[in-house]
Amino acid sequence: MISTFDIFSIGLGPSSSHTVGPMRAAAEFAETLDKQGRTELVQRVQVDLFGSLAATGEGHGTLIAAAVGLENVRPEAVEPDDYTAASERIRDHGVLRLSGHHEIPFSLGKDIVLRPLTILPRHPNALRLIAYDGSGQELLSETFFSIGGGFVVREGAAEPSGVDRPQTESQGFSSGAELLEQCEQTGLNISGVMLRQELQFRTEVQIRVGLKRIHDVMTDCVERSVREDGHLPGGLKVRRRAKKWFDELSQEDPERAPGMAMDWVNLVALAVNEENANGGRVVTAPTNGAAGIIPAVLHYAMTYIPRIASATQEERDRAVVQFFLAAAAIGVLFKERASISGAEVGCQGEVGSASAMAAAGLAELLGGTPLQVENAAEIAMEHNLGLTCDPIGGLVQIPCIERNAIAAVKAINAARMAMRGDGVHHVSLDQVIETMRQTGADMSDKYKETAMGGLAVNVPLC
Ligand code: SF4
Repeated sequence: MISTFDIFSIGLGPSSSHTVGPMRAAAEFAETLDKQGRTELVQRVQVDLFGSLAATGEGHGTLIAAAVGLENVRPEAVEPDDYTAASERIRDHGVLRLSGHHEIPFSLGKDIVLRPLTILPRHPNALRLIAYDGSGQELLSETFFSIGGGFVVREGAAEPSGVDRPQTESQGFSSGAELLEQCEQTGLNISGVMLRQELQFRTEVQIRVGLKRIHDVMTDCVERSVREDGHLPGGLKVRRRAKKWFDELSQEDPERAPGMAMDWVNLVALAVNEENANGGRVVTAPTNGAAGIIPAVLHYAMTYIPRIASATQEERDRAVVQFFLAAAAIGVLFKERASISGAEVGCQGEVGSASAMAAAGLAELLGGTPLQVENAAEIAMEHNLGLTCDPIGGLVQIPCIERNAIAAVKAINAARMAMRGDGVHHVSLDQVIETMRQTGADMSDKYKETAMGGLAVNVPLC
């Protein structure tokens, strides 16, 4: 059973599968060398990137993330400024501090080998790390798969590394039907069932404090982004828009602007994804590319649901936790039954899953029954089916940034539509998740985070 804190984890932009995952894999590799007491023997490390990691690695910052990861730096812990300093030292001076204490020469061009046409059987995002001693003897070789959302699996392992698993016997839920059944049996709503599940990992206080921290990181991300203008890195010359929009919206009279709620939702999504594209601190939700949808819809809930907008701070904090738990329950289903990886199933797995999660969270705060919440998630996913991943230049900018805003508004609409119904609907969440999985399996590799089709080939880099 996956935890809420696996679905929402703190990382760095621009990509959970192509930046956060490779960095974690490299850090684990370095840690293994350290535990084996062989770090000091290492004179050279080679990193082989396969498939999508190689095809779009430059644009996603995969190469430098893997190199910094070798310093045993973790994406959830490193300060963005420290990450930049380490990146510059490695890139400009060719000095890598293996495990943080053993200096070796390292060249991004020579020591990282790109193999975009080689797809390893388990997953299209794979990397192999090999450490050599001074005589060229291999000391350690490990292969990892970055399976989306920052999750990393070692070759031969069944489970992602670092994922907490409950120590006690748990029924859990592995389908939407089981989730609804548990709601029925216990009288709990979907967030309540997820909380019950989560209590096997941590105490309730730890859960509330942890989710408050997740919310704070999301809020800080928006606040940082609306102070920044200029262009995003990567050569596409994409202008940051969040600051200008924020300055304009802050001056407008909400009473006179009918589209105000939508404008703010768009702004929050844009702000998060611009910060992500800039390599800043974001929360995977459930991935970095889709990181703006949940904060944007949560902003809508906190601002435009009158009961919550006028509540005490304590009640508002509870609403945030409820939103995250309901959204995480849906995220777990996508992760377990299909995929949240754009390299595996296209953008429907990233933005579609996030939209469904956000719709579920909002429907719960609007007072939805479990059936209505499940319906909200289903509607949002149904109308993201088939969404391809074709980022221009392999950068998480176009179409990604605007797509988050569109998907956030879609999530709000899905929740509102579900709330007008009684929860009875034709297509179940399980059916739509299975449809997403099958559609992803049928999708050409050109549309799965390889930047070899769609917008990526029709809009030239200038
Ligand atoms: S198109 Fe979608 S899946 Fe692909 S990088 Fe952008 S947000 Fe991620």
